[in-house]
Amino acid sequence: PVRVRFAPSPTGPLHIGGVRTALFNYLFAKKNGGTFYIRIEDTDQTRFVAEAESYIFEALEWLGIAPDETIGKNEKFGPYRQSERKDIYKQYADQLVNSGWAYYAFDTAEKLDELRKEAEANKKTFIYNHTVRETLDTSLLLSKEETEKRIANGEHYVIRFKTPVNEVLEIEDIIRGTVKFDTNLLDDKVLFKSDGMPTYHLANIVDDHLMETSHVIRGEEWLPSVPLHYLLYKAFEWDAPQFAHLPLILKPVGNGKLSKRDGDKMGFPVFPLEWKTAEGTSMGYRENGFFPEAVVNFLALLGWNDGTEQEIFSLEELIEKFDLNRIHKAGAKFDPDKNKWFNHQYLQKQNDEHLAELFKIELDKKEISTSLDLTKIVSLVKERANFVTELYDLSDYFFEAPTSYDEKSSKNWKEETPELMQKVIEELNKIEDFISTNIETVLKEWMTINEIGMGKVMQPLRLSLVGALKGPHLFDIIEMIGKEETVKRIEKAIE
Ligand code: GLU
Repeated sequence: PVRVRFAPSPTGPLHIGGVRTALFNYLFAKKNGGTFYIRIEDTDQTRFVAEAESYIFEALEWLGIAPDETIGKNEKFGPYRQSERKDIYKQYADQLVNSGWAYYAFDTAEKLDELRKEAEANKKTFIYNHTVRETLDTSLLLSKEETEKRIANGEHYVIRFKTPVNEVLEIEDIIRGTVKFDTNLLDDKVLFKSDGMPTYHLANIVDDHLMETSHVIRGEEWLPSVPLHYLLYKAFEWDAPQFAHLPLILKPVGNGKLSKRDGDKMGFPVFPLEWKTAEGTSMGYRENGFFPEAVVNFLALLGWNDGTEQEIFSLEELIEKFDLNRIHKAGAKFDPDKNKWFNHQYLQKQNDEHLAELFKIELDKKEISTSLDLTKIVSLVKERANFVTELYDLSDYFFEAPTSYDEKSSKNWKEETPELMQKVIEELNKIEDFISTNIETVLKEWMTINEIGMGKVMQPLRLSLVGALKGPHLFDIIEMIGKEETVKRIEKAIE
């Protein structure tokens, strides 16, 4: 059965790249009737941030892609926090030492530093591997008794993986195909530290195995770890899961990887939710007025498409169409303008009653109370809005009479205009049932009979009511504002 995981390290807020990883895992699980679980990889205590964990869950909840299994939910393979699984890892580290796949290393930080500097001086990078491991302070040269004595004496140690020499690994990745690695270029990575904590690599492999993970779907930045992971599965004599490494997400301009700083500098969010730190606040997609469905939609297209031109997908559709084999290898450009376009599309899809409720919240924030029909107003102006927060600027004239008239001095406002507007008032006063279509018929008839050009009336009338030459169908505006207010505004404009 398909069992996939999202395994974030709680070192800060979830970046958009992390959310995409979570989403692709979620989609793959749902598509295949499998399970999507979340494991918190918090073994690196130096980088631990307390609020990060709840942030991750809240963000996924908001997006509608919560896990089936995790801390406090269907804990079939728990605990799901690695810091609570410490005891498990040690026995596996020991197992590797006993089978000859790993060894103790007692080198001091100073010694390693010295070796690094020495290599640097020779314009090389120091690799802790087969070329040096037998000359350093490791259990490979010590008897079992000696090794145990030094550990019992409290000496600082790490357990390192004994990478095999002269092998070329050919590893299958669903997205990247066969990837080759030369084991001679690999480090003997640290698997376990004397503080009792495993490193990422050991904990990750042990847990992926114990939690019966079928596929590892994660960002491309983890590709260099694959040879070690593959060898660890071999060392444990476990079947490895299938791998799928997702393409990088690139900055909007240039070719670099998208970073948190890009967002802060360029004013677009890279986090789903607001995140506060001592240095300030990074506003997220939620606070910027994005619909979660829009965020899910644009994230899904960062590296994937269904092979057609279709761009708008509901979550259900994504589940139905998602296919790991359709993920591209090339980096996916992050496009903030396109993201807004997605939100625009989702705003148009909302029903007007719901939008009116959201709009009402915005008006309350501005302390604007009104008896106007917000559902109607929303239906008139939403076409031009990307965000609910923009609705007010698109409709402010419904709530407040204009105080200035953008283009009154220009060709739209002539000497005879005030007189004409006075006549418009007379016509409007004649209308009993003050609805858009009636207003339109009456005014148009009057213009035709008196041979008055449309522009001569419509432009100044719009200016009088709106203050600018913008807004929806003029007769809809007049109906919405009502007879009394319309007359008042015209009178003020021709004063
Ligand atoms: N804890 C790793 C991270 O922060 C997990 C990588 C993986 O999925 O193996 O992304």
